[in-house]
Amino acid sequence: SISKTEGVRYSFFNQDTQSSIEQRYQLESHLVDALNNQELYLNYQPLVCLKTHRILGAEALLRWHNPVLGQVPPDKFINLAEHNGQIIEIGNFVLHSALAQAAHWQALQQSDFRIAINISPLQFRAPNFAEHIADLLTLYQLPTTSLELEITEGILLQDEHLAHDSIKKLQAQGIRISLDDFGTGYSSLSYLQKYSFNTLKIDRCFITNLEKNEQDRELTRAIIAMGKKLNLHVIAEGVETQEQDRFIQSEDCDYGQGYLYGKPTSADEFESNYLTE
Ligand code: C2E
Ligand code: MG
Ligand code: MG
Ligand code: MG
Repeated sequence: SISKTEGVRYSFFNQDTQSSIEQRYQLESHLVDALNNQELYLNYQPLVCLKTHRILGAEALLRWHNPVLGQVPPDKFINLAEHNGQIIEIGNFVLHSALAQAAHWQALQQSDFRIAINISPLQFRAPNFAEHIADLLTLYQLPTTSLELEITEGILLQDEHLAHDSIKKLQAQGIRISLDDFGTGYSSLSYLQKYSFNTLKIDRCFITNLEKNEQDRELTRAIIAMGKKLNLHVIAEGVETQEQDRFIQSEDCDYGQGYLYGKPTSADEFESNYLTE
């Protein structure tokens, strides 16, 4: 009968809704203890200079392993942490771990080592963020020029004045600011005009189909050329094939990041793969 069908539908709908709410609740309840239980750690992915094919540094990427949930990708929990405010504490953990690691690698290499760290909107808007970063660099005895902060346009959407001031303060100290996932938002171009970034990271979605898609080649070419005109360094994200590498090189892109050069790995693996001969 009709009512039975509806009943079935209703309960299915209800189950689905409940399971996604439960999932979120479960994630959140585990995330609360993740730091204390030492379930969070960083992976590092090489940033490669396309001209010399040398590794100039690494991007720190957050990882979460929970005994019940297993490995939870950042795309699943960073937003949650942003919403409940935990990202401040977690972001601090990321900053401390990544800067300590970078100081160690810089000493090991006896040369510049660039560390790129992702910063979330809530973190960036915290009072005295620029001063906090300066204190951390002093604590770990790292030159300001070895730090690059990766931000997305979400940061710029919320409070333009604050973002502008923070970016200027950080850059005045020598810290680089890169605009991450470039091309995926909806006002990226006007942001380039309003702010002076140091680096542009072309989103992976442009790079993935370079071989197959003429339009993606044109867009990538245009983004690199525009970045250079604006005196920005340009990094192509998500480079997986030789053809993609050849294309971005031929377009004079500065840096590459992607599985072709190296996947994100533990600090130990990064060190033995890339920093010791
Ligand atoms: P993102 O900053 O754009 O980082 C690049 C993402 O692309 C990483 O995903 C990386 O593993 C992946 N990737 C790199 N090369 C390739 C490739 O050749 N092919 C493919 N398919 N993927 C590649 P991941 O580690 O899952 O991180 C996802 C996002 O989570 C990051 O995107 C960033 O927005 C955020 N995130 C990661 N760590 C942190 C953190 O410490 N703080 C904050 N606020 N956000 C973070
Ligand atoms: Mg990034
Ligand atoms: Mg990105
Ligand atoms: Mg991203």
